[in-house]
Amino acid sequence: MFIKESHVYSEDTILSEVVVVGSGAGGSTIAKELAAKGRKVTLLERGRYHRLGTEMRALKFYTGHFMKIKPGELSRGNVELLRTIMMGGSTMVTLGNGVRALQEEFQSMGLNLEKELSETERELGVAPIPEDLMGERTRILKRASEELGYKVKPMPKFVDFSRCTNCGMCVTGCSYGAKWTAQNYIAEARKHGARIMTESEVTHVIHSGGEVKGVKVRSKSGSFELEAEHVILAAGGIGTPRILQRSDLDSGSDLFADLFVNTFGLVEEANWGEEMGMATMIDEFHESEGFLLSPILDTKVHMLLYLPLLMKRRAFKRGKTLGLMTKIKDDHSGYVSQDSIEKGVTERDRRRLERGIEISEQILTKAGAKESSLYTTPVRGAHIGGTAGMGRVVNLDQETEISGLFVSDASVFPSAPGAPPVLTIIALSKRLSDLLHREYL
Ligand SMILES: Cc1cc2nc3c(=O)[nH]c(=O)nc-3n(C[C@H](O)[C@H](O)[C@H](O)COP(=O)(O)OP(=O)(O)OC[C@H]3O[C@@H](n4cnc5c(N)ncnc54)[C@H](O)[C@@H]3O)c2cc1C
Repeated sequence: MFIKESHVYSEDTILSEVVVVGSGAGGSTIAKELAAKGRKVTLLERGRYHRLGTEMRALKFYTGHFMKIKPGELSRGNVELLRTIMMGGSTMVTLGNGVRALQEEFQSMGLNLEKELSETERELGVAPIPEDLMGERTRILKRASEELGYKVKPMPKFVDFSRCTNCGMCVTGCSYGAKWTAQNYIAEARKHGARIMTESEVTHVIHSGGEVKGVKVRSKSGSFELEAEHVILAAGGIGTPRILQRSDLDSGSDLFADLFVNTFGLVEEANWGEEMGMATMIDEFHESEGFLLSPILDTKVHMLLYLPLLMKRRAFKRGKTLGLMTKIKDDHSGYVSQDSIEKGVTERDRRRLERGIEISEQILTKAGAKESSLYTTPVRGAHIGGTAGMGRVVNLDQETEISGLFVSDASVFPSAPGAPPVLTIIALSKRLSDLLHREYL
């Protein structure tokens, strides 16, 4: 069953009905669900476990550019794309925001995700952040927004608030175990007998005669092939299309990233401490104008890296800084190839960003920030997907043109959610696991 090159595995150690590629939101769900149903699952993850909680540690697992000291990859088009290669994927660095994204769009395609979304919310303990845990900046911005007539909602979070210290370091990975991550699901998968292999990068899917046969894997100790009856790709919006392309399967277009900018202003007399980011949101423009606003503060090293030379001192004035993120539903106009990513800002994206910045500036000045101190960051994106879209690369069962080869990550989203996607990726993966168990395996 297992064809080895430089590895020595005994056949019964590695025999699996299902090979899952990637341990993020999608892959961890499939592994947990199918292992719990008694299926033989092997999960292959390119990254490894990392220590969490500081910016220096985080630079090791963000994909990075500029000698890897900047966290994101730079696309052609100058958009910085944020993702991590590690056990748990990008779920390790979320802000714990748990909202239902694209539910109606999937419904209109014939996919009712209500049951799976409810189950996900229960398992992850999604709840709005209580008002008494909101930080000072969040409250000040809430008050200013409401005075201007905007509706501010508490953000639903998959965070155990009793363990959260409000350290504001979610994006470096939570070192208090307060936030749900895919590692929680991986632990359950392992408990149910799934085999988890770290530092194992899948390079190709092996197929012949229109049927999947297995995967080719590159690991520290050599390359090998693994036979499988079913392969589920969940290597994320960049990883998945690259594997498909190397396997002669068309994919990689329609890339979105939920582009965002942060607008900051200084309140000279303030001296605020750290707090949880994105604790509230203004979503009244999401339907009509395609953007969300939410309070945010970037980490110190990150600010030092992206601020223009004459503004770098700002990184040491975080205690006086108020910030709002504008996150848009961007055009799925990008492309992932083997050695580059094309993702620019279209005219419609620019209009959406500008409208969000305009309202952010209005709120920030109302909250006491000096107009001359307003600064908006370069454009970044952190919700990467669309590159193996449903109806384009996979069908409604998330199966590719190769029988037995499925995709279950943000790549299958038909368009940008413009909102946190984790709950929806998990819901889709639960639905697929059920379908595989009942009809395919
Ligand atoms: C800073 C930041 C904050 C975010 N905050 C939120 C939030 O608050 N709420 C929210 O809903 N979303 C948030 N997101 C987005 C969310 O994390 C991602 O959309 C989600 O994790 C994507 O899930 P996925 O399964 O598509 O991919 P991932 O979770 O990225 O998983 C892909 C996995 O595949 C592995 N892999 C890649 N290539 C290979 C290969 N060839 N072989 C084997 N393994 C491979 C990767 O290492 C990774 O573990 C945030 C993202 C970032 C970067």
